[in-house]
Amino acid sequence: MRTLYWSSTCANCNQGRLLFQNDITNARVYVHCEECEWGWLHPEGLGDVAQGFLTLLSDYETTDPTLEEIERSEWRGHIAGSFEET
Ligand SMILES: [Zn+2]
Repeated sequence: MRTLYWSSTCANCNQGRLLFQNDITNARVYVHCEECEWGWLHPEGLGDVAQGFLTLLSDYETTDPTLEEIERSEWRGHIAGSFEET
């Protein structure tokens, strides 16, 4: 069971939720879309598809961040909700 936190609806596909991920290679938290895999590094860019990137092309290790890790990042205050996934 994992708890996933999300930020908002994706501006690229307008369907998926933007799930928080921990990029442990570069030590940063970002969001990526559960539907189209588009991602954003910074909360200011969320409404702008051009500021995003295709997360599938990135070469780094990721984990699911804890609520505390998100709160410690620049994404603090951008958490819309969470859900459990088995
Ligand atoms: Zn999307």
